[in-house]
Amino acid sequence: MLAAYITHADCARHEMGPQHPECPERLGAINDQLLVKGLLDYMLPYDAPLATEEQLGRAHSSLYVQELMAMAPTEGHVQVDPDTSMNPHTLKAALRAAGAAVQATDLVLAGEVPAAFCAVRPPGHHAERAAAMGFCFFNNVAVGIRHALDVHGLERVALIDFDVHHGNGSEDIFRGDSRVLMCSIYEKGLYPFNGENAVGPNMVNVGLPTRSGSDAFRDAVLTHWIPALDAFRPQLIYISAGFDAHREDDMGNLGLVEADYEWVTQQLLAVAKRHGQGRVISCLEGGYVLSPLGRSAAAHVKALIGAD
Ligand SMILES: [Zn+2]
Repeated sequence: MLAAYITHADCARHEMGPQHPECPERLGAINDQLLVKGLLDYMLPYDAPLATEEQLGRAHSSLYVQELMAMAPTEGHVQVDPDTSMNPHTLKAALRAAGAAVQATDLVLAGEVPAAFCAVRPPGHHAERAAAMGFCFFNNVAVGIRHALDVHGLERVALIDFDVHHGNGSEDIFRGDSRVLMCSIYEKGLYPFNGENAVGPNMVNVGLPTRSGSDAFRDAVLTHWIPALDAFRPQLIYISAGFDAHREDDMGNLGLVEADYEWVTQQLLAVAKRHGQGRVISCLEGGYVLSPLGRSAAAHVKALIGAD
């Protein structure tokens, strides 16, 4: 009944301009809802450490890591792609966000907590092995997964991605890595406009049409994810937890509600209990309208800590 809550004040210092949807207030909106719903009483708080270059290098090319570090400005903004820019605090925030996934891995595999929620930004699932894009710099969840595999010696890890956008970065990093099963559900026709063709046998991609709604989402989970997960028997499950498929979030149009996030998390926790000692690590990805973001994250965390 406990989970780690890993975040850091540095994660709120990265910002990409006054109108940008991936804004610092996202973390406050989540924290407020966890507090209001009494969920923080069941969580152990941790300050995210900075990821090291060695840890980043397990998911990214070292040249890319060094180039990004060299681009970090001391004032103003540096544009990395049309939607993504760095301010003087971005590099540290990105290192904390990836460091959170590493710390979560260490805590969960040491048996300190069965689950962890990393309330971090910048998000990570669009960041490829050698490219920042789509608000993402380092692929936080991928850095955590490679830490579990390469440092802790796990042999089978699952990555679940329910963000409304396809996790192209995670797919790029884990294509051909048979130690990782990636299962994703995303809305077809949205950024980054790929995912339709699975890049390998370790990828279970389900693209849903616009306005599919709760029933189609749950059906996809039960039909495509759960059998693949049970066959794979993951020792640890990571979640790229984006909440932008919520019907009040204008980034997408899948039409999910809070109850769907609670339900899918319960399904994944049940898989984790069958195969992986109940171990689940969740990292925040998208979710841009503050109220549904906070409520959805709270519903997700409620299930993560096993509360009724
Ligand atoms: Zn998204």
